[in-house]
Amino acid sequence: MDFESSAKTRDLLERLGAFMDAHVYPNERLYHEQVAADRWGHPPILEELKAKARAAGLWNLFLPESEHGAGLSNAEYAPLCEVMGRVHFSSQVFNCSAPDTGNIETLIRYGSEAQKDRWLQPLLDGEIRSAFAMTEPDVASSDATNIVATIRRDGGDYVLNGRKWWISGIGDEACQVMIFLGLSDPDAPKHQRHSMILVPRDAPGVTILRPLTVFGYDDAPHGHMEILFENVRVPAENMLLGEGRGFEIAQGRLGPGRIHHCMRLIGLAERCLELMCRRVKTRVAFGRPIAEQSVTLERIAESRILIDQARLLTLKAAWMMDTVGNKVARAEIAMIKVAAPNMACRVIDWAIQAHGAAGVSDDFVLANYYAHARKLRFADGPDEVHRNQIGRLELAKYA
Ligand SMILES: Cc1cc2nc3c(=O)[nH]c(=O)nc-3n(C[C@H](O)[C@H](O)[C@H](O)COP(=O)(O)OP(=O)(O)OC[C@H]3O[C@@H](n4cnc5c(N)ncnc54)[C@H](O)[C@@H]3O)c2cc1C
Repeated sequence: MDFESSAKTRDLLERLGAFMDAHVYPNERLYHEQVAADRWGHPPILEELKAKARAAGLWNLFLPESEHGAGLSNAEYAPLCEVMGRVHFSSQVFNCSAPDTGNIETLIRYGSEAQKDRWLQPLLDGEIRSAFAMTEPDVASSDATNIVATIRRDGGDYVLNGRKWWISGIGDEACQVMIFLGLSDPDAPKHQRHSMILVPRDAPGVTILRPLTVFGYDDAPHGHMEILFENVRVPAENMLLGEGRGFEIAQGRLGPGRIHHCMRLIGLAERCLELMCRRVKTRVAFGRPIAEQSVTLERIAESRILIDQARLLTLKAAWMMDTVGNKVARAEIAMIKVAAPNMACRVIDWAIQAHGAAGVSDDFVLANYYAHARKLRFADGPDEVHRNQIGRLELAKYA
């Protein structure tokens, strides 16, 4: 494996780091103050930072090998994504945030020219945001073939009905479009029953019922919403790729965006380890700095080992996606999807412990980051499902 960064990546990494130091970290508090003042609005500081990032050429850095991106491979993007992961909202600053990244990839790959004009360009320009509406309260949604919300053809339109929940991003007023996964033909073969269709946020019949919370965090203004779709009528042209092709899109959608969360989790864990180290050097308990307690040293060492292991596995998965494709890399992708959130949970938990009561407060990022890392053990596909796949692939070697 060649992990040598290209000159281009090194330059981007340097500029991204300088941008974070000059503009993102100093405005972290302001961002949260603006969100607190208008929870479901759109914090003005974000738009200021986006304009600066775009002017600095730090924009749409994902999208490997695409004319719309910076032309980076997955392995080249990984260290940049890691830096963004250190501050929860910062991937938005560079127009590299989920779920827009996956939705942009979907539109590039499967959108019609009209769909691209209407939705892709404003997304690439960071003028609007988007959501992905799959999960439903009434069925085990880790198996997407269970989805029961319906998409029915009616003349020149499709009519959508159903209840979705945990739809991220729709809390932000900038979020103008959703990709909706629904059942379009219950009698078709299992993987041809579902379709994906574009739904404008303001389509009549779309009702946002409530924001859900993750260990008490509503993640405003992004949010995770429960949404009712009642006879929502959208033009037939909004269908992506074609009726019954939802799983074909889902397969393609499981592209580069699949491991962005893992890349960001490395940066998030690094920041928590840094906080832990700074804290234990300055706090004295029972006559000695906490840093000098052997259990603390052991946890710091173990955190360093876990983070570096996860980073290498992330890079290996990214490198394989670049060189042999997502299909051949599926074991590595599944492995890092298990390893990264588990690693981050472990490291953050130790950092919280080292902070004492301060660690579970919102005076530090730790509690919020723990909530984020913990939910990624199932939100991006449950650990168990990834492990089943890894196990089966391993066993297949001995057929
Ligand atoms: C903060 C957050 C944001 C989210 N954002 C979105 C979003 O934007 N759009 C969207 O559509 N969804 C979103 N989700 C939902 C997420 O995708 C689902 O939670 C996930 O797919 C799991 O589905 P489920 O919750 O229905 O769990 P279930 O499918 O009911 O699974 C529950 C548990 O069953 C076990 N399990 C399942 N399958 C197996 C198996 N094969 N072997 C062993 N055990 C198994 C696992 O322990 C799993 O955690 C989000 C969730 C969260 C928490």
